[in-house]
Amino acid sequence: MTAVVHLQSPLPARRIAVVFLHGGCAMRCRFCISDARLSSMDRPQYLAALETLHARGFDQIVVGGGEPCEWPGDWRYAVREAKARGFHVQLGTNGVLLPEGFARVHGVDRFVLPLDASHAELHNNLRRSAPAGAGTCADHYSLIQSRLEALRRAGREVTVSTVVNAANLAETAAIGKWLSHYVEKGGCVHAWHLYRFIPSGRGGARHAAALDISDEAYEAAVHTARRTAGSLRVFKRPDMRHSLTVDFFWQEGAHLKVGSEVWGKIPTAEAC
Ligand code: SF4
Repeated sequence: MTAVVHLQSPLPARRIAVVFLHGGCAMRCRFCISDARLSSMDRPQYLAALETLHARGFDQIVVGGGEPCEWPGDWRYAVREAKARGFHVQLGTNGVLLPEGFARVHGVDRFVLPLDASHAELHNNLRRSAPAGAGTCADHYSLIQSRLEALRRAGREVTVSTVVNAANLAETAAIGKWLSHYVEKGGCVHAWHLYRFIPSGRGGARHAAALDISDEAYEAAVHTARRTAGSLRVFKRPDMRHSLTVDFFWQEGAHLKVGSEVWGKIPTAEAC
């Protein structure tokens, strides 16, 4: 079992571990709070992390980054190994590198995908593509629509996340209606997470002036979401770096580190 640097002990209620496999991501979202300087785990480090999480009583894992599907160790290996150890496994991804047939890949219990507007123009403006290359997508909105449709057809569960910011505040109702319609058509949405924009990281810091919102605006957006999203569970996440039920794990050198209370001081991001 690997050595763990205890920056903060998990509370008994924390049973979900977000594991940052890989800090890099080819996309250039305007609100991104991650930093590519985050270390990438190698396979032995990841397996050691799983053993540690299991021993500490975690039974759910979110495989995240950066973008976990860019992990050189192969995200399919990551989810298979987690599943083989009995974890409930979520994959938090921007969806770009998911292959044909991804919805039937063994080991993922739930996908976590982003949707930041109800139409392509705004979503793609927020979720910008880097210059052409692997892991980028100029029409990310259409890509997400196709990923959600594949999950719907396969009867697979998804959590949808939205980063609420000044540009998409007026979109909350429309996204909620879209998701309700998706559920009416048979889509299986576990929850809709509303993350408040944070003015830090490689995207958020640069675009703070354009995207930052007040407490009141965020509260109003959550209220609107709950009013328009039908039976969907809407989770309010005012600070994606902290959670009462989730703890965060990442690799620094030879050590697996943990601690949501110090999360804001490390160069990484929760699954987007
Ligand atoms: S928000 Fe997610 S998809 Fe966008 S650049 Fe950051 S890590 Fe990549």
